Amino acid sequence: MLNTHPIEKLKTLEEFFWINPRLEKAEVAFSYSPLGKEAVLDAESRLRKFSPYIAEIFPETKEAGGIIESPLVEISSMKKTLEKLYEMNIRGSLLLKQDNALPISGSIKARGGIYEVLKYAETLAISHGLLKAGDDYLILKEKKCRDLFSRHSIVVGSTGNLGLSIGIISAALGFSAVVHMSSDARQWKKSLLRRKGVTVVEHEGDYSIAVETGRREAEENDSSHFIDDEHSVDLFLGYSTAAVRLQKQLKQMNIHVDRDHPLFVYLPCGVGGGPGGVAFGLKLAFGDDVHCFFAEPTHSPSMLLGLATQKHEKISISDIGLDNITAADGLAVGRPSGFVGELMSPFLAGCYTVKDSTLFYLLKHLADTENLYLEPSALAGMAGPAKLFRDGSAYLKEHALLEKMDNAAHIVWGTGGSMVPEEEMNMYYQQGASAYK
Ligand SMILES: *Cc1c(COP(=O)(O)O)cnc(C)c1O
Repeated sequence: MLNTHPIEKLKTLEEFFWINPRLEKAEVAFSYSPLGKEAVLDAESRLRKFSPYIAEIFPETKEAGGIIESPLVEISSMKKTLEKLYEMNIRGSLLLKQDNALPISGSIKARGGIYEVLKYAETLAISHGLLKAGDDYLILKEKKCRDLFSRHSIVVGSTGNLGLSIGIISAALGFSAVVHMSSDARQWKKSLLRRKGVTVVEHEGDYSIAVETGRREAEENDSSHFIDDEHSVDLFLGYSTAAVRLQKQLKQMNIHVDRDHPLFVYLPCGVGGGPGGVAFGLKLAFGDDVHCFFAEPTHSPSMLLGLATQKHEKISISDIGLDNITAADGLAVGRPSGFVGELMSPFLAGCYTVKDSTLFYLLKHLADTENLYLEPSALAGMAGPAKLFRDGSAYLKEHALLEKMDNAAHIVWGTGGSMVPEEEMNMYYQQGASAYK
């Protein structure tokens, strides 16, 4: 069993917990990382410059001063339920980072997507002499800026939350926004985007070819900016700022993270940018005291496959016979981002996979115990703590963590949910009620 190659395990479609043999000491990993602290702090300071403007155009962010942030909450009832479901003791405290409740687009994509569009707007305004260092960014609301933006388009290919986030923010700034979707994407997403003035292009057949077409068209057109989910450093940095804010939230809650108080974070992973960016920021903030795990559906373990084989974007789950069919549409990715995989390889503690039935089951229990409603993708992190204690004891032993676990904090990253229409959520809940572990 121990020596079974990860590929063989993934092929069985059973849930699998993989410990990353290439994890390095944070100090060593950062010494050869192409990105560092300055890049993350630069992104955070750019978001601060935009905050008065964000507070104006999105009133729901006014109270937080135009900073797009989500609550961190302890979920001790859910912890008790997990202990019952998994018949084990989960040592340490259990918290939920509620990116399901992020303002503007209700998912983790409100971090990366919005950051990249704002940065593009800033670059445009500066290059056209409409904005300079030290200016109040409220200028961007003025007609001359909106006119400039309206002559430019932002293009993205996404069937889900990235499309929502990019479409909503682009339209609000005055850009013309084009979201390429497969024709089987959820109707409510298409309708919502069209109501906001976004052009939704639907593609039959091979959706990835359609995205490629969108990418090429945008590249050939100077007035078009393509948001590249797989390669974008700006998206990644937008996500990474979450760590700066989380550090403050932990302090406010009196939760210490240090040698004797380890932090475990469980992040649902699709192409990798969202969880990668967040984990990268967390490693900068907490170094070896934070342990980051990525979670994927058993039918779409693309990041795990890329990391375990070190082939990253050069291997697809279809190469090992998997079908990429999952209800977790935010995680239904066949080929991971090579940029993120290579960058994060020395920083990650491990990855694990979860069955769809587990996602629905956890969705139902989280709703019952905490009255919190997340979308299926966002529940992948919730299985993490139980999996760590059940299948990760080698990791805990190797890092001398066993005797510290009573002081541990486990943060489950709840990556989306608040945009899901109620009828749709009810269906998810019903599926959870009839699923079993
Ligand atoms: C996009 C998404 C993720 C994963 O982010 P990636 O950047 O694709 O890895 C996780 N959960 C939800 C709900 C998402 O929409």
